[in-house]
Amino acid sequence: MDLENIYASMGISGEVYEFCKKREAHVSERFREIDEIFEYNQLKVLSAMQQSRVSEACLVETTGYGYNDMGRDRLEEVYARVFHTEDALVRSQIVCGTHALTVALFGNTRPGDEIFSPVGMPYDTLLEVLGVREAQGSLKEYGVSFSYCDMKPDGSFDYEAIRRGINERTSLVEIQRSRGYSQRHTLSIAEIRELIGFIRSIKPEVTIMVDNCYGEFIEELEPTDVGADMVVGSLIKNPGGGIAPVGGYIAGTEKCVKNAAARLTAPGLYKELGPSLGNNRLLYQGLFMAPSVAASAEKGAILLAAVYKELGFECAPGPFEKRDDIIEAVTFHDPKLVMSFCRGVQRAASVDSFIRPEPTPTPGYEHEIIMAAGCFISGSSIELSADGPLREPYTVYFQGGLTYPHAKLGVMMSLQQLLDDGLIDRSLLLNRD
Ligand SMILES: *Cc1c(COP(=O)(O)O)cnc(C)c1O
Repeated sequence: MDLENIYASMGISGEVYEFCKKREAHVSERFREIDEIFEYNQLKVLSAMQQSRVSEACLVETTGYGYNDMGRDRLEEVYARVFHTEDALVRSQIVCGTHALTVALFGNTRPGDEIFSPVGMPYDTLLEVLGVREAQGSLKEYGVSFSYCDMKPDGSFDYEAIRRGINERTSLVEIQRSRGYSQRHTLSIAEIRELIGFIRSIKPEVTIMVDNCYGEFIEELEPTDVGADMVVGSLIKNPGGGIAPVGGYIAGTEKCVKNAAARLTAPGLYKELGPSLGNNRLLYQGLFMAPSVAASAEKGAILLAAVYKELGFECAPGPFEKRDDIIEAVTFHDPKLVMSFCRGVQRAASVDSFIRPEPTPTPGYEHEIIMAAGCFISGSSIELSADGPLREPYTVYFQGGLTYPHAKLGVMMSLQQLLDDGLIDRSLLLNRD
């Protein structure tokens, strides 16, 4: 067995191999910590499945209205157990994370209400949902307004601004756990707990929703364990384990979930309708795999940080910093490096490895984005992927990897591409411990 040779056969030079191997050795203790959380979360998911008595009959296909879809109902029960909530809505009719968030927001607000974000402007695709960017059918058109305050430059919550921002009309507070494409850091569960405590001290009855995208199974606790009324996410990210072909989830109080179900299907129909089609098995299996996949992706992100920090680039979080999602951000301050990096990651893809990514305008996003994505599930960013909006400060976001060796190859290929394109100096790789 010769690892270096098989890497060489795939285009990885000896110097890149050696450099990455050394960086990997430096973070082995970090990997051990990740594996402990993986173990905990694997048991949490398994135990939920056992308690809900998931059976072979849950895996069959249903069609049409989907009345008495036992597999679907049982899966929603499993999600509710995993997130420790009263109820959950887990559907392949929810087409993505933005859709899940839209259903949760429309369902849980009424004309005259205000939505408040205490952690800055939400994820790009929500700007049209909220009506911050003019869009037909936005919440703004229905008389639901939006306001926000930023976090402080030092990364702490701006409690004064939050106090000012929550008024008598504020009915829903949206907390985005992951940083998305913003420059702030991703929130830890401890920070979310503190923030929710403060919000409740100002307005106890407000609905608190957490956009949980990319955060699932990164810590032992989830936002609903520390006071959130609901968590919302995408099944083509962490909780789908790379296996769910489509879908989204909303887990929370009975009231929040029913409000969301009224929007997804119809008032009166709620959760009773909506066939799982042939997807039950994939959604169960995906959830089962999710803790393992999240851990693999995190290890890939840590290796990436270890490699690029050593080369002198800003990496957030750093290789030894606590991680709160699967995303690693490397800032290049140069569009050429962003494009070359993404092209390298693409060369490591399982599907479409021969394609050369180009920057393109993307629906829901303001700037052109270059994306490296060669996935079994189209657009699945729990699979190895990288993307960067072409705007200052030219940060590339790297995420995913269903297995650690795949994520590692992505890291190595990105570095190889930067070298091959002459964008970083070979000498940087030499004589390192
Ligand atoms: C991915 C993501 C979304 C939107 O999900 P899509 O599936 O791309 O619609 C929303 N919020 C955050 C933080 C995300 O990472």
